[in-house]
Amino acid sequence: MFRSVAGRTVLVTGGTRGIGKGIARVFARAGAQVVIAGRDGDVGRACAEELGAAAGPDGGPVVFARADVATRAGCDDAVAAAVDGFGGLDVLCANAGIFPDARLDVMTEADLDTVLATNVKGTFFAVQAALEALTASGRGRVVLTSSITGPVTGFPGWSHYGASKAAQLGFMRTAALELAPRRITVNAVLPGNIATEGLADLGPAYRATMEASIPLKRLGEVEDIGYAALFLASEEAAYITGQALVVDGGQVLPETLEALAGA
Ligand code: NAP
Repeated sequence: MFRSVAGRTVLVTGGTRGIGKGIARVFARAGAQVVIAGRDGDVGRACAEELGAAAGPDGGPVVFARADVATRAGCDDAVAAAVDGFGGLDVLCANAGIFPDARLDVMTEADLDTVLATNVKGTFFAVQAALEALTASGRGRVVLTSSITGPVTGFPGWSHYGASKAAQLGFMRTAALELAPRRITVNAVLPGNIATEGLADLGPAYRATMEASIPLKRLGEVEDIGYAALFLASEEAAYITGQALVVDGGQVLPETLEALAGA
């Protein structure tokens, strides 16, 4: 039986939509005190209210902190919301990320900088800002949201995004070493294709094509990533650090279309 994360404080950057919202929902239902961070105040406040109300009688509270992870000051603000509001921070889910597409022949320096600022510098800044509070926790956990795109696969238009997601894993391995003496673990979840709000705009035909490329024949739910993060944050995962966990319904497994057809 897993021990509960009830009463622990969790910061989920990019927790106001999509995968981050799913992570926040899973932790809140498990009784954790959750801070969700994002840039849009209206969306963030509405999300915190929704998640707090849906967490149930044994669920934890959810509050919103307005923060841009692409700046160190923004990450400091998000961590301060956890420390000031709940007395500390036990788990950082560094999840905020963006994925605009641009092929190499048209990608500008600004396109590249924007993606790297949020996805790579945002990861560094969030961990740096949380360091003191996670150390004080005595059982600090960092869970990064990377992707299969970059570390395992490629996708046209996403060379900058893929590079940023692979960079997170390079960061993770050295951070895991540096932070081990502080009893902080650093791991990553690598989602495959996850059904987020934005997917609905792309239509049912697009969704069906995506599902056909996945051996388990469905897209991931945002909670599928939340449960992986919850495990990596658990007491039982205390001996796991510097590892990447692929959560993709088997999407990266088939060597050929024939192999996929046999699944
Ligand atoms: P999403 O639905 O677009 O949500 C992104 C979240 O991040 C929002 O809460 C957004 O809020 C926040 N955010 C973006 N830029 C930010 C910034 N500079 N500072 C603070 N918050 C920021 O995205 P998603 O699909 O859930 O993706 C979340 C993470 O999962 C990303 O790291 C992405 O790379 C990864 N991922 C997604 C998939 C997938 O299938 N969806 C697959 C693999 C990996 P604001 O806009 O209000 O700031």
